[in-house]
Amino acid sequence: MKIAVFPGSFDPITKGHESIVKRAAPLFDKIIVAIGVNSSKKGMFDHPTREKWIKQTFADVPNVEVMTYSGLTVDFCIQQNANYILRGLRSNADFEYEFTIAQMNKLLKDNVETFFLLTEPEYSAISSTIVKDIYRNNGDVSQFVPAAIKLTD
Ligand code: ADP
Repeated sequence: MKIAVFPGSFDPITKGHESIVKRAAPLFDKIIVAIGVNSSKKGMFDHPTREKWIKQTFADVPNVEVMTYSGLTVDFCIQQNANYILRGLRSNADFEYEFTIAQMNKLLKDNVETFFLLTEPEYSAISSTIVKDIYRNNGDVSQFVPAAIKLTD
């Protein structure tokens, strides 16, 4: 079984995340979208809400599951029998950040490979941070989040 973990905050899930998972779904037997519980990074939306929106987004993709986890991502991967970490790249800044994490994860667990997909050009400017800013200021975020979800639900 080829299992990939897609770790992140998903606060909230965006069309950028949706695209990465949907494009990777045919490549793996199972993708676990894993919401990291990080005590120093509280976030805006609570974990059950983030999880609900991810489930709604991938309701029609049978090999996608949603979980929350704490601790090291590589430890969660081993626990789930996942040999792959899936991440998305938007820019040089993402690359710099992801490069370090992926190299450290490889040193921690040699049998877990990080697999990168480039963002689709139309989603390269979308981030959860910007979606939150717009939402907080009563702007319309519908074009940035998956069609299946409504942030007001
Ligand atoms: P984290 O807090 O771990 O960065 P995020 O939820 O912000 O969590 O992102 C999870 C993953 O999704 C990261 O690999 C990030 O680069 C990727 N990602 C975020 N937004 C986009 C986007 N618009 N296009 C492609 N990948 C994205």
